[in-house]
Amino acid sequence: MASIFTHAIAAGALGTVRYPKKEVFKYFALGIFCSAFPDIDVLAFKLGIPYEHPFGHRGFFHSLIFSYLQGLFIVRVFYSDLAFATRRSMTIGFYFFCCGVSHSLLDAMTNGGMGVAFFAPFDNTRYFLPWRPIEVSPVDISSFFGHWGIRVLKSELYYVMVPSLLLVLGSFGIRKFRSK
Ligand SMILES: [Zn+2]
Repeated sequence: MASIFTHAIAAGALGTVRYPKKEVFKYFALGIFCSAFPDIDVLAFKLGIPYEHPFGHRGFFHSLIFSYLQGLFIVRVFYSDLAFATRRSMTIGFYFFCCGVSHSLLDAMTNGGMGVAFFAPFDNTRYFLPWRPIEVSPVDISSFFGHWGIRVLKSELYYVMVPSLLLVLGSFGIRKFRSK
């Protein structure tokens, strides 16, 4: 996995592209949640489920279908006042979907572990992107506090945090330009 900080930063940056005027904190908090939740599947290791299993780490919980279901669930539960399949509910749901997918894409850009089962449960093939500059983050959190963690944060700084900052600046810059 990429580190949880990076998943959160990427989700926050994505949210700046378009966000509702009301309940902004809720919107971003839920987006960050959607970007972090797929790693719940590290519990599979504790349950004795192998990495390569469809419900192993980077399996179903990292799939496009899961990101879709997660987005749908979040909208139905936390935006229950919105009618189903309206433009507004779909726009908000699409953001939560993108947050989940951003997690899977960032994992697929790491240089370790197994690939991501993007198409589970229909196809359990694990995929990496052709470009994998991100140092893989340790599953065991204690290993993060040391040289490995510094290497991870350094690679994420270049390949995730700086692009995220540019996205935020670009989003606000375009908005400001349009409002003139
Ligand atoms: Zn992950």
